[in-house]
Amino acid sequence: MIPRLPLVVVGGGLSGLAAGVHLAAGGVPVLLFEQKPHPGGRAYSFPDATTGETIDNGQHVLIHGYAATMRLLETIGTKHLLATQPVPALVFHHPSRGFRTFRLPALPPPLHILAGVLGSDLFRLSDRFKLLRAGLSIRRSVGEGERRIADLTVAGWLALMGQSDETIRSFWEPLAVSIMNEHVGSASALLFVRALRTAFLEGRTNAALAIPTVGLSELYADPAREFILRRGGSVRCATRVVKLAASGERTTGVTLQDGSFIEACAVVLALPPAESRAVLPDGLTAGNFLAASAAIPFSSIVSTHLWFEREVMSHDVVGLIGRTTQWVFNRRKLAARGGEGGHVSATISAAHDVVGRTQEEIVALVMNDLRSAFGKNLPEPWHALVIREKKATFSATPTVEALRPDQKTPLENLFLAGDWTATGYPATIEGAVISGERCAALGSDFLRRAFNAS
Ligand SMILES: Cc1cc2nc3c(=O)[nH]c(=O)nc-3n(C[C@H](O)[C@H](O)[C@H](O)COP(=O)(O)OP(=O)(O)OC[C@H]3O[C@@H](n4cnc5c(N)ncnc54)[C@H](O)[C@@H]3O)c2cc1C
Repeated sequence: MIPRLPLVVVGGGLSGLAAGVHLAAGGVPVLLFEQKPHPGGRAYSFPDATTGETIDNGQHVLIHGYAATMRLLETIGTKHLLATQPVPALVFHHPSRGFRTFRLPALPPPLHILAGVLGSDLFRLSDRFKLLRAGLSIRRSVGEGERRIADLTVAGWLALMGQSDETIRSFWEPLAVSIMNEHVGSASALLFVRALRTAFLEGRTNAALAIPTVGLSELYADPAREFILRRGGSVRCATRVVKLAASGERTTGVTLQDGSFIEACAVVLALPPAESRAVLPDGLTAGNFLAASAAIPFSSIVSTHLWFEREVMSHDVVGLIGRTTQWVFNRRKLAARGGEGGHVSATISAAHDVVGRTQEEIVALVMNDLRSAFGKNLPEPWHALVIREKKATFSATPTVEALRPDQKTPLENLFLAGDWTATGYPATIEGAVISGERCAALGSDFLRRAFNAS
């Protein structure tokens, strides 16, 4: 079933690429437009001008339980480029108690949580049973349980679960800020609990970290583009879509920045919220379906790459408890193709108070945090690069769920993709890929119905 007109995908981030790949895999070649010179959206890599090393716009971490992302990587043939932990384990550095590990042994869930929590020296003995209580509540919080926590922040939910300040600081806050890109005081309990259920209760190894060993573009964007091309589709970069056209209940195509009009049998809009609203046809009353999305707030991420004359950390990944820098990644150990000396990347999520500072200030702050964990004698980096993503993700607060639109729209052949659409997930690669998969299914269904009717 190849339609006469192309199915157009607008936006070459992970959601648009996922839609394009799944449609192409199902026999529907797509025509994808991306405004930048390269696909990848908010997950891309580029060569650092000083070292020539390929670096990412921000360290991206997946977990093994991201089923849709794993399916996408299998389809485009790059799953083997992830380094996945054999058993889930997180290493933290506590300011007064030093390095501590939380590891889930190879037992079926929920026994692995039980053994992991009771056996971990990250938690005080008295806190371990309280943690298990929270685990039980995550297990039960489906259906009515979800409705009860829908208005709560993570901090509100943790208070209900009787969690101690120390466990919140040492465990919940580092976990929440990395999954939600918000601090516990603002992040949505509902989205957090859902993400934890997937990670910790739906499979023994779901929580295992899966870290790209190559740049993000080599992992996702380039192979996804090649897959689409091999299946007869087309990916046009440096091509901005300025308007969507509609007639009656249907979209008829898109206008490009150069003024040309591309007729389409259906369109997947895989753009951020403001850009999606901007391309909707003027006077489209159905356009109200995106009005609420104008209130979606955003959160920033600051990533700092530091190069040293020598290796400066022995672990792969360390969570820094009680510091501004939350996670530190040893790029020399994680990357398949390493260079000389040490290379560390440090992540500050929900970086509201940091994103406006200068590169020198941020490097000094990160170095201070690193020295507090890895020793006062840590040398100065010989090269540093700070990447500030001001609108890295939407801010996953409790009010945001009501503002996220469905992938289905009032126009029968227009579908919405993006990590900010209603996926049930926080703003993650998994959410973006799920939205793309859903749009591909909706697009195929529409074409099947249209063909059967004609
Ligand atoms: C620094 C950082 C770290 C992150 N870390 C993680 C992590 O560890 N784990 C995780 O799961 N997620 C992480 N994320 C989130 C993840 O990157 C995003 O959820 C995902 O990339 C979003 O993909 P998307 O397709 O929804 O949106 P986008 O990537 O924003 O894609 C939208 C695309 O549309 C294009 N576009 C816009 N307007 C037009 C137009 N008019 N015409 C044509 N094209 C247009 C844009 O250029 C862009 O390529 C991180 C994000 C950042 C920024």
